[in-house]
Amino acid sequence: MNAAVMEAVADKAGYENNKLHKRLCRLVGQAIGDFNMIEDGDKIMVCLSGGKDSYALLDILMTLRERAPIKFELVAVNLDQKQPNFPAEILPAYLEKLGIPFHIENQDTYSIVKRLIPEGKTTCSLCSRLRRGILYRVADELGCNKIALGHHRDDILETFFLNMFFGGKLKGMPAKLVSDDGKHMVIRPMAYVKEADTTRYAEVKGFPIIPCDLCGSQENLQRKQIKNMMREWDKKTPGRCENIFSALSTVVPSHLMDRGMFGFTDLKTDGMPNPLGDIAFDEEPCSTPATGLGTISLQRVP
Ligand code: SF4
Repeated sequence: MNAAVMEAVADKAGYENNKLHKRLCRLVGQAIGDFNMIEDGDKIMVCLSGGKDSYALLDILMTLRERAPIKFELVAVNLDQKQPNFPAEILPAYLEKLGIPFHIENQDTYSIVKRLIPEGKTTCSLCSRLRRGILYRVADELGCNKIALGHHRDDILETFFLNMFFGGKLKGMPAKLVSDDGKHMVIRPMAYVKEADTTRYAEVKGFPIIPCDLCGSQENLQRKQIKNMMREWDKKTPGRCENIFSALSTVVPSHLMDRGMFGFTDLKTDGMPNPLGDIAFDEEPCSTPATGLGTISLQRVP
């Protein structure tokens, strides 16, 4: 390749990376705005595991803080769970270079989990319960009123399918919710971001990724199944995951079956036309915006 071609390739790559950064900032900013995740005076604990998603979260929040018309603080927190071969020096070095306040919490949850869970059994549920309790305590000690987690759109969809397929519940992962101890607001500013974008961003930024399998635990088989299913959909029917994600924020309780969410038992007719009422035998019009096919009106059943 000659110098001119090399330069053109580098320009194109720089342009694409810039676009990716802008897209991440836009999507994170949009989620923050839609759910009112961050307010003036907030002190936010950003949980940093050393994985690509949490690095991206911290990086984008730092950019947005520079531009925001409000003032909020960020504190990066990593929990060193004393897993074998955990490279304890990587995160402090990275965070010092960034010049952001941070705290490394050292707690040997690894030994506790190994002691209490029989060999061969899955360790994740106890491990994450312990981690949650520790992070809540650290948030209190640091005076943080909010806890930011790096879950993205694909995590939310995976959780939604896991709950539906294996738990019989229509339940995803909230973009914002009060913690189960009632004391903290948990926020997921990357809720609108695709995992493919955080993967690419991590490569572009050269984040010093810490592998997530140091504990030796196998990936949950059910989650693996869901991931494969979504990957296949992305290949064969692009746009399907986007539509499902959009469905999560366009819920019509009267057209589901949850008697606690909609008062089916006390329902009365009032004689007034209602476009959201039952359309008897007519099929729902089906629109497929993400595939670019426009609106398809299904034929009426005679
Ligand atoms: S994969 Fe390992 S570190 Fe992560 S939750 Fe499971 S046991 Fe804990």
